[in-house]
Amino acid sequence: MRISAQVAFAWADFRITLTGKPRRKGRGQTPQAGTDSESQGFAGRELLREAVARLRDGRWLAVVAALAVLAGAIAIAGRIASGQAADNLRDTALAALPLAAGTLTGEIEKQRLVPLVLARDDAVRGALRRAGKMQEAALNDKLKAIAGDASASAIYVIDTAGIAISASNAGEPTSFVGIDYNFRHYFQEAMAKGAASQYGLGTISGRPGLYLSSRVDDNGKPLGVAVLKVELDGVEANWRSSGFLVFVTDERGVVLATSQPDWRFRALAPLSAEDVAAAHEQLQLADAAFEPLPFRRGAGDGLATIDNAGKPRQFVEVVQDLPGAVPGWRLWLLTPADAALSSAANTARLTTLLGLLLLGLIAYVLTRRRRTRRLRQEALARMNAELESRVSTRTAELTRSNTALAGEIAERENAEAKVRRLRDDLAQANRLSILGQIAAGVAHEINQPVAAIRTYAENAGRFLDSGKTGSASGNLTSIVSMTERIGAITGTLRTFARRPGVAASPLPVREAIDGALSLLSGRIRDSGVTIVRPRGNASPVVMASRIRLEQILVNLLQNALDAMKDQPDPRIEIELAERDDRVLISVRDNGPGLGPEAAGNLFMPFQTTKEKGLGLGLVISQEIVQELGGTLRLDPGNGSGASFTIDLRRIE
Ligand code: ADP
Repeated sequence: MRISAQVAFAWADFRITLTGKPRRKGRGQTPQAGTDSESQGFAGRELLREAVARLRDGRWLAVVAALAVLAGAIAIAGRIASGQAADNLRDTALAALPLAAGTLTGEIEKQRLVPLVLARDDAVRGALRRAGKMQEAALNDKLKAIAGDASASAIYVIDTAGIAISASNAGEPTSFVGIDYNFRHYFQEAMAKGAASQYGLGTISGRPGLYLSSRVDDNGKPLGVAVLKVELDGVEANWRSSGFLVFVTDERGVVLATSQPDWRFRALAPLSAEDVAAAHEQLQLADAAFEPLPFRRGAGDGLATIDNAGKPRQFVEVVQDLPGAVPGWRLWLLTPADAALSSAANTARLTTLLGLLLLGLIAYVLTRRRRTRRLRQEALARMNAELESRVSTRTAELTRSNTALAGEIAERENAEAKVRRLRDDLAQANRLSILGQIAAGVAHEINQPVAAIRTYAENAGRFLDSGKTGSASGNLTSIVSMTERIGAITGTLRTFARRPGVAASPLPVREAIDGALSLLSGRIRDSGVTIVRPRGNASPVVMASRIRLEQILVNLLQNALDAMKDQPDPRIEIELAERDDRVLISVRDNGPGLGPEAAGNLFMPFQTTKEKGLGLGLVISQEIVQELGGTLRLDPGNGSGASFTIDLRRIE
């Protein structure tokens, strides 16, 4: 609270300084009114200048570094995303691979049984025993029927000389009957080992296919070979429809069965001259060049690149051996990766770019906010410092004036004490002067009774000498009466001489009036005087001792009672009035009042008109009232009676 109040004050003060008393800047510049907007514009230009300076200070380096980091992050994100996409594609390809392999091996296994069964067939054996001596129309029909059932492209039987003696396509223009197959590996190998397989082009049809052969024995003596040619068109069509690029290579990497027909008999990698010769020999393709395919295997990332008319395309490659089909065969499955990889990479790059831009934006906003907050705090700190310096200046000024004030107060207190002392001295001197007057009066007053006592005493002696005891006793009575008068005078003096011992305290005036009336109640009752008490209930309070104020009131009431001793319808009115900070207590009677001369000497000691009066009551009363800081006066006469007023200061 205190700090914010300080700041608010400082700000207000600061504004006042800016608008009310603009500081002079430069040489003799005239202060202008309304400098708030100017100071803001100035602050804006300062900020701009500072920003440019900071940029020059090496911000460019930071910008270049940030851009480099951005580019690096985007590149890494793209690479990671394309790697993940490649993994996904590889998983898909791996899942498709057994299916592609199963399609091929299933087809081969299905067909492989046919030559085996034919090798044990009596009709086949019979025909081979008769080899070349007659037309085998029945066997031809049988082979045709089996080929149709097994979906084989051709089934034929070759005798030991290598000449086909019966075929499923006998009678057709492309009939194998009579053709010499002695050169074929599938014939030679089957004759030697009992069974063989060979992929190659048909000599008649020119169509590729897999030849599966089985030797026909007659009690351990070879009679010939039963051969089935399966063309893998259906398998290749199945592969094509799967959407993958699927092909089979032999042990040299020459493509055989393939979903991409123009790749057939081409090599995955350039073949050496020996390999080319060996491939020619094995596949029995005299004019095949085994040209290398535009196929490049990736370095460990499982990605292969195929250059398609100058446009390299990426594929995810998976490969598996096919031991169950033909020894040395491997099945390859390639899936196009370009679209998936670039899409994943682009998405990742874009996401990364957007993410980093967002991060940058957030960082920028946060930095700006922090900077703004810092600038604000600095401004606040400056204002606080200014405020503190002003406060300390003011405090110093105040301390100085405080010190001066304290000096003045001390001086004034000294002076007041001096005045008090003087007043006390004066009062004391006044009292002493009154006492002096009283003493003179007392001496005068006492002299008379003392002289009378002497005379009475001398006469009493003489009366006793002459035996007149009655007269002597009368004189002695007079002496007693004289001493009583002297005692009365000295008693009053003792009262007066006593310093005011009772402490003054706040006193409701009505209490003192009631007290005085109750003290005189007996006398009032006897005299038959009507007492009129103050009207209303207001009871102002004054600073006085109750006994002292009662003493004054009793004196005034007694004087009034004395004055109206023989008065018909005597009446005393007590009035209470407030005027400003004064309280006025008046005691008025309807007695004879005072003549001008009596009024003039009223407050002089021993001025009395009474037979037994001392003339001290009013003097003492006035003295007491003055001690209480008030006055006692005789009100100007209005014809009948006398009125005295006590004037005191009201405290509430
Ligand atoms: P004392 O009562 O002993 O005479 P005071 O000082 O009280 O002394 O009074 C002085 C004189 O003033 C009185 O003797 C009287 O003549 C006169 N005086 C005082 N009060 C009244 C009054 N109410 N009416 C007429 N005269 C008065």
